[in-house]
Amino acid sequence: MIRPTGPLRDLTGVSPEIAWKLTDAIFQQASSLIIAVAVFVLLGSIGFFSSGSFWYLAASLFFSANGVWCLTLMHRYRTSRGTYSPKGWAIRGMVSGWIAAAGWGGLSTVILFEPNRTFVLMVIAVQSATVIGAAVRNCAVRSVAAGQIYLTLIPLFCVCLMSGNVYFLMYAGFVVLHLLAALSLMNFLHAQTMRLLVQDEEKTALVTSLEATRQELEIINQHLETLASTDALTGVANRRTFDLALSREWARSAREAAPLSLLLLDVDRFKAFNDFYGHPAGDTCLCTIAAIVSSVAGRPGDAVARYGGEEFAVILPNTKLDGAATIAQAICEAIRAAEIPHDASDSGQVTVSIGVACLMPVQGTAPAQLAMHADAALYAAKRAGRNRIHAAGDCGPSHGSAGAVQSTESPLRV
Ligand code: GH3
Ligand code: MG
Ligand code: MG
Repeated sequence: MIRPTGPLRDLTGVSPEIAWKLTDAIFQQASSLIIAVAVFVLLGSIGFFSSGSFWYLAASLFFSANGVWCLTLMHRYRTSRGTYSPKGWAIRGMVSGWIAAAGWGGLSTVILFEPNRTFVLMVIAVQSATVIGAAVRNCAVRSVAAGQIYLTLIPLFCVCLMSGNVYFLMYAGFVVLHLLAALSLMNFLHAQTMRLLVQDEEKTALVTSLEATRQELEIINQHLETLASTDALTGVANRRTFDLALSREWARSAREAAPLSLLLLDVDRFKAFNDFYGHPAGDTCLCTIAAIVSSVAGRPGDAVARYGGEEFAVILPNTKLDGAATIAQAICEAIRAAEIPHDASDSGQVTVSIGVACLMPVQGTAPAQLAMHADAALYAAKRAGRNRIHAAGDCGPSHGSAGAVQSTESPLRV
């Protein structure tokens, strides 16, 4: 990998989000800046009143003006960050920081010759704190911090070397150590910052991809759920879904003391249809019948399912026997109206037989008896000549006597 170079290399080769977070870091230290400006003004005032030199006043003014500039930049960064790119902002932060550091460097060239040694120590102490502060505050974009460290300490180092004073010569050695320590601290903090930012970015990417995977899984699950509950050929509910729906409706009807009806429909002479027209035509015929049944029994709560090979079932909640028989007849008529040719049958077209059953479910009992009644009714319709409905149950229009099978034959004429 090619390592980025140049003064703003920390902002090169990173994502825009990280570049902005790095610039955020160098523009979010207003309180420490205000404290620094206050300390500079205090030092300048002390220097001015103790020595009477206007240089101190000028230095105070210089640092105050620079501080105000930096604060203005911070304010503009907060209010209109989009004006410049991260690099544009970093250059502004770098120039203002470097000018302040050059001021410190320049100040050290005169301060060392100040006769008031206590004051010199005070200035040097504050200067050291400022250098470490710059290393910490601006470690996000290292060229800003490194420039501040060099511009402050190198002039100090040179002046110490040239002073001819043995203490200052010794201090020059400390200045070098101070410079190395500040650079090392800056690099360490920069590495930590980058590690956290990259981890944060990776975590965000991971969360995003996990969420996308979760949504995909949800869609796949819904699809699987549909596949598991639907009959692949006709698209209506399959036998498993029918069994669940019947149990559910049985329990609900028992709770609400409501009648529950069931239609069992069987295509007449379907084996002969297959033999005559072939299996693919038989499949198409089953699809047409499923669509017709679904369109007739379309009330919310009604459930159409493929019960077996050429058999369909319709659950009709809260429907009495006469209502269920009416729907069964409507289905027979609709299939007859579809006029699906069946030259291998007596009628010449596809017909169905439907067994209709209705019961008042009792809590704690199984719905199998309803299916048994519907099955018995279906075979009665078959025995009676097919192409008809046969209704039986214990909850007719007048809620006939419980337990007794009420049989109503409703043959259809074609
Ligand atoms: P009945 O009037 O007594 O009901 O006579 P039937 O011929 O309809 O009854 P039988 O039980 O003898 O035959 C049912 C036929 O339904 C046999 C089988 O091949 C056909 N069948 C069952 N499932 C499918 C299917 O998915 N596709 C096709 N094309 N035919 C099917
Ligand atoms: Mg059958
Ligand atoms: Mg049949």
